[in-house]
Amino acid sequence: MTNNATMHEHDVIVVGGGGAGLRAAIAAEEEGADVAIVTKLHPVRSHTGAAEGGINAALRDGDDPKDHAYDTMKGSDYLGDAPAIETLCETSPEETIQLEHWGMPFSREEDGRVSQRPFGGLSFPRTTYAGAETGHHLLHTMYEQVVKRGVTVYDEFYVMDLAVTDHPDPDERECHGCIAYNIKSGDLVGFKADGVILATGGDGQAFDHTTNAVANTGDGLAMAYRAGVPVEDPEFVQFHPTTLPSTGVLISEGVRGEGGILYNSEGERFLFERGYANNDGELASRDVVARAELTEVSEGRGVNDEYVDLDMRHLGEERIVDRLENILHLAEDFEGVDGLEEPMPVKPGQHYHMGGIETDENGETCVSGLYAAGECACVSVHGSNRLGGNALPELIVFGARAGYDAAGRDLGEARIDTGPGARSETETDLDTPVSPGALDGAEPDAVADGGALATNAEAVVEDELRRQRERVETLLERDGINHAEIRSDLQDAMTEFVNVFREKEGLQQALEAIRDCRERYQNVAVADPSRTFNTDLLHTIETRNLIDVAETITLGALARDEFRGAHWRKEHQERKDDEWLKHTMISWNGGDPEVFYTDVILEGEEKTYEPKIRSY
Ligand SMILES: Cc1cc2nc3c(=O)[nH]c(=O)nc-3n(C[C@H](O)[C@H](O)[C@H](O)COP(=O)(O)OP(=O)(O)OC[C@H]3O[C@@H](n4cnc5c(N)ncnc54)[C@H](O)[C@@H]3O)c2cc1C
Repeated sequence: MTNNATMHEHDVIVVGGGGAGLRAAIAAEEEGADVAIVTKLHPVRSHTGAAEGGINAALRDGDDPKDHAYDTMKGSDYLGDAPAIETLCETSPEETIQLEHWGMPFSREEDGRVSQRPFGGLSFPRTTYAGAETGHHLLHTMYEQVVKRGVTVYDEFYVMDLAVTDHPDPDERECHGCIAYNIKSGDLVGFKADGVILATGGDGQAFDHTTNAVANTGDGLAMAYRAGVPVEDPEFVQFHPTTLPSTGVLISEGVRGEGGILYNSEGERFLFERGYANNDGELASRDVVARAELTEVSEGRGVNDEYVDLDMRHLGEERIVDRLENILHLAEDFEGVDGLEEPMPVKPGQHYHMGGIETDENGETCVSGLYAAGECACVSVHGSNRLGGNALPELIVFGARAGYDAAGRDLGEARIDTGPGARSETETDLDTPVSPGALDGAEPDAVADGGALATNAEAVVEDELRRQRERVETLLERDGINHAEIRSDLQDAMTEFVNVFREKEGLQQALEAIRDCRERYQNVAVADPSRTFNTDLLHTIETRNLIDVAETITLGALARDEFRGAHWRKEHQERKDDEWLKHTMISWNGGDPEVFYTDVILEGEEKTYEPKIRSY
């Protein structure tokens, strides 16, 4: 470790201290690397702490990782890559047991075995949990390991951008570190490293009604995108069927896993009675349940024309308090509803981004030295729809792999090819303009696009540090508009037009609104002149990232003329495997986004997954 006031040096830098970042840091440390976590929040305040329901792992007799892989591929609507899915399902049991050995307090059966419960889209009750606070315990368990191993944690450091060489071909670029704003002191510092792992979590703040925290602003995704890494399958956003209507706070799928029932205003158990999911009912996959709820509301059978009811009273107080106590508090605190006495109001809300930074099974991107893991990444295990309980195993499985690989362990050659060089031979005719001229009129100082001209690692970081300093000074010193109105307009457009039900005209309106936000952002300024704890400055920079992320989501959604998983299109209500069995990739391309496609890998180790009609 080398430190001076403006430059820190480590072998591996992990950006983010949530589940993926902590697991990556532990792995890199185990491999003997000098590793540091750089994070805008203290690790245990990361959004992983909000995860309620559990971790999918084939642990029990009668279960099999192969069945978990099949369920995951089916859940993905055949857009997941088999090498990634099989790695996830085969490794999840050992990673879950590792957590148990580190002291994670999993819920247990009377006979002492770790409890597992059913979750949507699973053929076996394989969701392992710690009450309804699984994520909280997962974070604390891994943070203890980080402290024990002496990993350096720079908390309240906001990473603004990556330090990457400037080569016309992203496949030839190298990442040498990143630049962070020290929130406590107001100083900008460079971090030089051989490997940088982005583990910055989700981007739910691109939407208005979301289960995500205010810190989930897609920073890492936007940084990697601008550095030349394609954003994979951005159009696939998960809307969770059970969020509280007034706040978007999540009511875990664990409620339905334990036997909770959904009713419409006519008292019908509509998932069965109206034929949406004749076999699995409430435990159908999330995209199916969310569409069913909104159909009920739009056809006049919603409660108060807005939501449906989730009833768990029949489970009895003892079971509810034992397994779902946290849910009682959330319903009471945010909706004033006593879940022991009355049903809870629920409606779909943005929850998870299946798309993300394109990586291979070892967490590597096409830019040398740059890795990604967790929700910001797309490896891809979730394809077009994530199964509940499959994100937490993704954090620990692929967080660990990224950490090991970045620290030099040989994990074998990846089967998934990345970068513009992996482009599929089959071209798609797009009837949508995908080149919005993103940088027209942009002021480079305020947006900090492009890579560094130097090639020497230290000079690359120093160049980027200088650019980010200028950027901050410009934002603090000039007069202009506040970011808040821009962010709010962006969220409104995304929530109205890029939601569960999508149609071409609405998506085009969203794209126009996003371009308008981008244009207005060129005149953005920070009103608060203070150097320390300047949240106005941070939120302004985050808003820029949200604009970039929202644009990729909308471009991907406009281009994909089919209905697959969480992406439903009014004009195209069928899955089109002949044309669309492929991953969307969006490249920054100097601010003029380019859309291309890569092949989905359905060939697994022992079998090829044949796309079938997906019913529950
Ligand atoms: C309410 C809720 C409940 C869920 N329940 C479940 C569940 O039961 N089971 C399941 O499998 N999945 C669940 N999920 C999904 C899952 O919890 C998340 O996908 C996962 O926790 C994300 O982890 P992460 O490590 O990728 O990101 P996070 O935990 O969000 O961590 C991101 C980290 O990055 C840091 N960061 C971000 N930007 C910057 C920046 N610019 N500079 C420095 N640091 C930065 C943050 O400080 C933070 O430490 C749930 C999601 C939500 C919202």
